[in-house]
Amino acid sequence: MGTWSDTVWIESRAKELGFDLCGVVPAGKFPELEHTEEWLARGYAGEMQYLSDPRRRSGEGAFPGIRSVIICALNYNTDLPKSTGVPHLPQNAEPRGWISRYAWGDDYHEVLKERLHELTAVLREHFIEPFEARVYADTGPLHERIFAKYAGLGWLGKNTLLLNQRLGSWIFLGAILTTLDLSPSLEESALPPPDLCGSCRRCIDACPTQAFVEPYVMDARRCISYLTIELRGPIPEELRESVGTHVFGCDICQDVCPWNRRAPTTPREEFRPRTFGSSAETARPKSEESSGLSSRQAQQDASDSSEESLFLPRLEWLAALDETDFRRIFRGSAIKRTKWRGLVRNACIALGNSEIQPGARAYHRITELLQRLSTSQDSVIAESALWALSRIQIQ
Ligand code: SF4
Ligand code: SF4
Repeated sequence: MGTWSDTVWIESRAKELGFDLCGVVPAGKFPELEHTEEWLARGYAGEMQYLSDPRRRSGEGAFPGIRSVIICALNYNTDLPKSTGVPHLPQNAEPRGWISRYAWGDDYHEVLKERLHELTAVLREHFIEPFEARVYADTGPLHERIFAKYAGLGWLGKNTLLLNQRLGSWIFLGAILTTLDLSPSLEESALPPPDLCGSCRRCIDACPTQAFVEPYVMDARRCISYLTIELRGPIPEELRESVGTHVFGCDICQDVCPWNRRAPTTPREEFRPRTFGSSAETARPKSEESSGLSSRQAQQDASDSSEESLFLPRLEWLAALDETDFRRIFRGSAIKRTKWRGLVRNACIALGNSEIQPGARAYHRITELLQRLSTSQDSVIAESALWALSRIQIQ
């Protein structure tokens, strides 16, 4: 087995490569993996069939011969307002939507994978014996959160996410699965790591769709992240109003979490909101333009800018994208997962919830756009646009 000092060495190399946290855990079975089976049996995963992949039941299933998992975390908490802290837009302002913080910048899968491969290369220089290693960044049959908990990175909160005492929950997780037999970061006596949620239940109470059936258990079929990203068909009518103006994911159960209140922000440019000029070329906001913004300043900037941004994006812009624009704009972005149809569907639902009034500047343009979309050959888009019209048009 690798020594304790090997593990400390790996953790410090990971930090040199830019990871905020790193821990090592043996590839065993953990109680949460059993609970996941029960969760799946209750149907809470909805259409996410990849979660039923039997290889997810243990580390061994994910990668035969595996002995250890190295879990690394990257802070993506950019210094822009929370979804719960954005002031109401003026009545005649253009309706805007919310994209989950994790999807504002570059595709986290790629950012993580690049660093994980660098760490793997460093391991190959350090360990003399031959070994196999595989890199996952939310890309393989592994419940990263569960392994992260037992690697000492935090605890699984009532909102089901991994929470770290210092960084909160704004962290991406990636893993190196390896045949190296490494010494764990946490000693047996320190397991399981303490749950610091205490009597708090803010996330449960704040969820607009009541997706938590009980603390620590989410019915993903009700979660806005599932509805706007994973679900391919129409968003169920009874949940549409609660989706609000979310167009890709939802941050509410993280935004209200006290552990995120003082979470440090990241200076990493790649996680800042992408912006797009009229030619739809990507550009990144200069740090002096966007750092340290108050929520009112940020909102004002979003309203005044002629550029489009993934921070409070204009719903009309999103709803009007065609498939070619979508592919070009969201290349290298996690948003491509919802596909063009999903994003336009979501933008229609958000417009229906936008409370735009006939006196608003963009009202006529938006109703015309929705009328056009209501004749789309795509039945999901057409029906979502009709629903939106029924909500904002004077009868
Ligand atoms: S992401 Fe939003 S909808 Fe999903 S559980 Fe959290 S608060 Fe509820
Ligand atoms: S909001 Fe409260 S209960 Fe929910 S994850 Fe955060 S600390 Fe835990």
